[in-house]
Amino acid sequence: MPSNSQTPPRANGPTIAIDGPVASGKSSVGRAVAQRLHLRFLDTGIMYRAVTWLALRRGISIMDAGAVEKLATDCAMAVDYSGSESAAIIIDGHGLSQELAAAEVDRSVSAVAALSGVRQSLVEQQRSIGAAGSIVMVGRDIGSVVLPNADVKLYIDASAAERARRRWRQQLKTDPTADYRKTLADTIRRDELDSQRSDSPLTVADGALVINTDGNEFLDTVSIVVATVCHATGLTLQPAASEQ
Ligand code: C5P
Repeated sequence: MPSNSQTPPRANGPTIAIDGPVASGKSSVGRAVAQRLHLRFLDTGIMYRAVTWLALRRGISIMDAGAVEKLATDCAMAVDYSGSESAAIIIDGHGLSQELAAAEVDRSVSAVAALSGVRQSLVEQQRSIGAAGSIVMVGRDIGSVVLPNADVKLYIDASAAERARRRWRQQLKTDPTADYRKTLADTIRRDELDSQRSDSPLTVADGALVINTDGNEFLDTVSIVVATVCHATGLTLQPAASEQ
């Protein structure tokens, strides 16, 4: 899929791996950093979400590991790494964006992501996208498994209470009855599933810099990450297309 950002991604740019738990802000920060540095952006969570969505749509039980793994291997997937917040992914001809955030996908995605056959297929695709460099890739295992030789590895964290508050505020926009305690419990449950699975658990990768965003303003975190990447790679900020 073509890039639709104002300025085309720079050639021969660095590879930035960003990991972190659910709702740590890593995707929003990663997308903003990619835009500022003119790099491609891939949120790998959407790939696990798309497989989950397709399994639910086809009526495949999430408990049927073999069938879900076969689906992940056989499906055709094209991801948009332009950094756009809409049109995120096409799977077997279905263009998905908002559907990926549906409650039933949320409930099942961590179980799908724990299946080794699913991870194998998706990690392979992520590595081939990452091989061209010039990318910010975000997920749970990017620095540890997908791109262990990334130029910069970051782990963006925040307390479970802070992360649940962010998710709850989002949920309130579409569901005024959203309950903070339920969101907190779900955040903790997903942390446990992601950290305790045997294949590629969520972990701070060797050599990763941990950034805790509790109490940070979003733009402050973006500036910290941009400065860290520029310092580590020698990259310099380019003026936006409109400023040239
Ligand atoms: O980041 P997001 O919440 O969209 O990711 C959805 C789920 O996909 C996570 O809860 C996690 O279980 C899984 N995931 C993963 N490895 C990645 C990205 C996401 O296991 N690299």
